[in-house]
Amino acid sequence: MSALIKIDDKHVPAWRIAWISDLPHFCGSADCTREGQYEVRLDNGESVWGNQEERNAALESLETWQEGK
Ligand SMILES: [Zn+2]
Repeated sequence: MSALIKIDDKHVPAWRIAWISDLPHFCGSADCTREGQYEVRLDNGESVWGNQEERNAALESLETWQEGK
């Protein structure tokens, strides 16, 4: 089991993930490029963004990683 999780073409170490958004981003801003994407917040305050598929895969990987499988 790899502890690296791929989101938006980036391999993020599982232990660096602070939280994963449950709902797609919506802020109403006309020039927002993240509309409908899921935010994955990292421990340093940075965020990466993925589609629903990536987010689901990330959640799954994170759970597996936490269980130490
Ligand atoms: Zn936005």
